[in-house]
Amino acid sequence: MKRLAQELEALEGQALRRRLQVVEAVLPGGKVRVEGQVLLNLSSNDYLGLSQDPRLVAAAQEAAARWGAGAGASRLVVGHLALHEAVEVRLAAFKGTEAAVIFSTGYMANVGVIAALAGPGDMIFSDRLNHASIYDGIKLSGAALERFPHLDLDRLEKLLKKSSAKTRLIITDSVFSVDGDLAPLADLVSLKERYGAWLMIDEAHATGVLGANGAGLAQALGLTDRVDIHMGTFSKALGSLGGYVAGDRRLIDYLHNRARSFIYSTALPPPVLGAIGRALEIVAREPEPRRYLLEEAAKFRRGLADAGLDTLGSETQIVPVLVGENSPTLEFSAALRQHGLMAVALRPPTVPPGKARVRFSLSAAHTREDLETALETIVGLAGKLRVSSEQ
Ligand SMILES: *Cc1c(COP(=O)(O)O)cnc(C)c1O
Repeated sequence: MKRLAQELEALEGQALRRRLQVVEAVLPGGKVRVEGQVLLNLSSNDYLGLSQDPRLVAAAQEAAARWGAGAGASRLVVGHLALHEAVEVRLAAFKGTEAAVIFSTGYMANVGVIAALAGPGDMIFSDRLNHASIYDGIKLSGAALERFPHLDLDRLEKLLKKSSAKTRLIITDSVFSVDGDLAPLADLVSLKERYGAWLMIDEAHATGVLGANGAGLAQALGLTDRVDIHMGTFSKALGSLGGYVAGDRRLIDYLHNRARSFIYSTALPPPVLGAIGRALEIVAREPEPRRYLLEEAAKFRRGLADAGLDTLGSETQIVPVLVGENSPTLEFSAALRQHGLMAVALRPPTVPPGKARVRFSLSAAHTREDLETALETIVGLAGKLRVSSEQ
């Protein structure tokens, strides 16, 4: 085990070592208490504040009281409760697809669906900045991988032209988790149609946030029917846990038979299903929180840009500020924390070397006042620490 200690030390030396920190309490207004200090939480994926919504908590309690704490088996054995069935029907209606299937997490959904749909002899085309779970799914699938530069569709087209694989699968995040920018979905759809490829989109950060009823970017752009595989999670804006894949009936039937992370793992427990069902209902019916969130995020980005900070093409509630090297990025994050703001420093290998950044994520739980104060603090500290795109 000596090697492990050496590697940890090496990480420490590069300011790359990570450590768990205990959140002592989750407080109203999108705040947390850590080491006795109350912080505005600008690092959470709870974009609508639903994780703390009493209606979700009640639905989870009711489902537990009626169905128990666990599902008792995997879905294909006897774990597919009427509760799972009902939530999947609701999910398909929410997504505007024929059918849908729920996995235990978004990570498991990506790993399961990619490895089920592609294998040796097939070719997967993946945006460089796609989520790690997509890359793990690709590895597990055994298919060949072409990683194209972030958003570079010219390059993607060249790669498609060159490939003679039978199954060609293009995969992209719809909202990118690191920079909060958007995939050029309309152009991706044209490309995939022109080359007869399949298109899979990961709507983890768009579900609940974009689209008329919150279904995501495909809905916002009216492209639902032209995307083959819709993937997303309930663990971000929807406030609880679980991943999903939505699409046509054939796809979902196939996944029931071939997605190993679905087949060989216990069904999600009833309390979580209760929370998911309630969240889907709330999100579809209540557009106001996502409107507020996107409006506040636009103001926040403008404020940062006006102060000369580089927000790297963000168009959503995820707003990065580019710093550059690892140490000043950690310093910036630490200074923010001293001033009551919790924002994570993203460093390599999550981002390319020399492109370390602090990432802010906004929530509808944040008050306008807290966000205004936060913006002033961020701009003030960035000035003091000389974080600027014009250095
Ligand atoms: C968070 C995330 C996932 C994984 O979802 P979990 O439900 O947290 O496992 C997958 N894809 C993207 C883009 C994500 O941001």
